[in-house]
Amino acid sequence: MAEVIDGNRIAREVRAEVRAQTLELKEKRGITPGLAVVLVGEDPASKIYVGHKEKAAAEAGFLSREYRLPAETTEGSLREIVAGLNASPEIHGILVQLPLPKHINPDVVIETIDPRKDVDGFHPVNIGGLFTGRPGHRACTPLGVIELLDRSGIAIEGKEAVIVGRSNIVGKPLALMLLNRHATVTICHTRTRDLAAVARRADILVAAAGRAEMVRGDMVKEGAVVIDVGINRKADGKLVGDVAFAEAAARASYITPVPGGVGPMTIAMLLRNTLSAASLWGEAGA
Ligand code: NAD
Repeated sequence: MAEVIDGNRIAREVRAEVRAQTLELKEKRGITPGLAVVLVGEDPASKIYVGHKEKAAAEAGFLSREYRLPAETTEGSLREIVAGLNASPEIHGILVQLPLPKHINPDVVIETIDPRKDVDGFHPVNIGGLFTGRPGHRACTPLGVIELLDRSGIAIEGKEAVIVGRSNIVGKPLALMLLNRHATVTICHTRTRDLAAVARRADILVAAAGRAEMVRGDMVKEGAVVIDVGINRKADGKLVGDVAFAEAAARASYITPVPGGVGPMTIAMLLRNTLSAASLWGEAGA
């Protein structure tokens, strides 16, 4: 039976560290990390996420600024707001909540963010940095997966890692992060032939497909580490991951639950990225 990785506990640990380091940054260098969260429109899930991020930022001792803009906001005026935040000395991290309304091109908006303030790690400069192993902000959810592995004492080097899902926000950046940590990485997607056979090769199996309980027990190698990024709401309102938990837990050595696994790590990593942006900004004297 697998050991369950407690994402809530690990996220609390990270957040406590961020809080302590924030206090130190304030005392030693007079810098308070500032996070601006921008929400356009009324998407209910986005409103909840943004609320959690603002609360977490305040708890960490950050300055938290929120911009709740109407759905009709034009791409031009959103870019102007972002440009203003780029220029603001009290803001070190800018997060534009996705998805944006259809008339706004998210790529254009993301490219407007100063890469040093791009604490979501979505700007092409930061993605390029990940690709080439240079410093820069890393996307929060995949970074959270790496942190869970590290803090659970699970070695990555030399392991066979299989990721189900190739999105720009989870699957692809996670593949690069695991590669940079010397795993042998396979990325699966909807057109992968015999997914089960590929998944069974994994020492570290990550499910990030957004398909409720699609990873069954027989896709898990005995002793594998199973990380479930998926968040799916079933018809009865229950939240489940992409992994059939009980079946997979019977074969895995470690497994993350949903909820309470990868989910809480995303915000913890956002806080850490913002703290690091604030501390580097000060150092650069900018
Ligand atoms: P996405 O829809 O952008 O990408 C899904 C990927 O999975 C695609 O690359 C697709 O090819 C692949 N895929 C889908 N069905 C498949 C199948 N049957 N077999 C093989 N591959 C398949 O999704 P995303 O944004 O990467 O999110 C994935 C999941 O992770 C979602 O459930 C989402 O809610 C969750 N998520 C959680 C967090 C968090 O924990 N904070 C953050 C982001 C996303």
